Amino acid sequence: MPRVPAVRNRLKDTPVAGTKRVLLAAPRGYCAGVDRAVIAVEKALQHYGAPVYVRKQIVHNIHVVSTLEKQGAIFVDEVEEVPVGSHVVFSAHGVSPAVVQGAADRDLQAIDATCPLVTKVHREAVRFSKADRHILLIGHAGHEEVEGTMGHAPDQTTLVNSPADVATLVVPDPDNLVWLSQTTLSVDETMETVRLLRERFPNLQDPPSDDICYATQNRQVAIKKVAQDADLVIVVGSANSSNTVRLVDVALEYGAKAAYRVDYASEIKQEWLDGVATVGVTSGASVPEVLVQEVLDDLADAGYGSVSQVVTAEEDLMFSLPKELRKDADGNPDERGLGGRRKLDWQLK
Ligand code: SF4
Repeated sequence: MPRVPAVRNRLKDTPVAGTKRVLLAAPRGYCAGVDRAVIAVEKALQHYGAPVYVRKQIVHNIHVVSTLEKQGAIFVDEVEEVPVGSHVVFSAHGVSPAVVQGAADRDLQAIDATCPLVTKVHREAVRFSKADRHILLIGHAGHEEVEGTMGHAPDQTTLVNSPADVATLVVPDPDNLVWLSQTTLSVDETMETVRLLRERFPNLQDPPSDDICYATQNRQVAIKKVAQDADLVIVVGSANSSNTVRLVDVALEYGAKAAYRVDYASEIKQEWLDGVATVGVTSGASVPEVLVQEVLDDLADAGYGSVSQVVTAEEDLMFSLPKELRKDADGNPDERGLGGRRKLDWQLK
C-alpha cells in the first residue's frame, strides 16, 4: 500500500511528567483473510484488466479501498449495478446465497474472496438449519457479514445484537437453540451475551468451535496488555471496521485513560497528548502497516520516539487464494497462489 503524504512536525513535543514512550501492540493489522482478499482484487486487475467490480468494500478500510479504486477497482453495493458478463469480487465479509444467485443471473464472473473463517460460520448455519435447529446469531444488525450469514438460514436465524437484547428475545422453541456469532466481536461482550442466553435458555447448544476469529481475539489480547500501562491508546482503522471499533472499547475497558480511533495519522489531535507519557498503538485487521508507521512518525515528532513492541502471539496462518487466481495471467503457477500472507514488519523483528 502506498504511503499518505505526511505533514512533518505537525504535533509539538511538549513536556510531560515521566518518560515519553510508545507501546506497540502485536499482533495488529492485516489478518490472513484481509490479506487474501486484497491480493484477490490486485490479481483480478492483473488477470482481467480494469475495471474489476467489487461488491461492497473488499475490506473495511478507507485507504485500502481508495488505493484499489485508483488501480481500477469499482466498488458497488449490489451485483445489479455490475454490467452483465463482468468480473465481480465478493468481499471478505461474505455473501448470502441470494447474492451468488443474483450474480449468476447476470452472467457475472464471480470471484469469491470471502474469508474462509466466515465461510466456516456459513457452513455451520447451513448444517444447523438442515438439522432443524434454530440459530441465535450474535452480531451487529446491518453488518455485511451478519447479512451474509443470516442469508444461509434466513427462516431459522434470530439476530442478537447485544446482551441487552436477550431479555426480550422471542424464539420458536427454547429447547432447540444453538448460538453462532459474527467473527469480529468483543470476546468478553460475546461471552456475557452467551451467559445471559444460557440463563434464559438452559439447553442452548454451543457452536463446534469459536466463531470469533483468531485475528480478532489476538488483537484484543494484545491491546488488553498494552492498555493497562497506557495513558492514551490510538487505534488505527476505519469507523465501519467492527474489529477496529472493538479495540477502542477493549482498550478503555482494560485501563487506558483515553482511546481514539483514527484512519490517518493526521487525525491525531495535539490535546490528546496533554500530560501523556505512554501511548499505546494498535490497528484493526484490515489496516495496512504503512498507516501505523505514519502514526509512529507523527508520535516521534511529538517526542514519542521510543517504541517497544508488546508481542502476545505469533501469527503465521495463510489461506489459499480463490481458485481462479492461483495462476498468473499466462497460466503459470503464481508464487502467491497458496497463500499470499505478506510478512509484516512486526513479524520480522
Ligand atoms: S478478521 Fe478474521 S474473519 Fe475477518 S477476514 Fe480477518 S481472519 Fe477472516
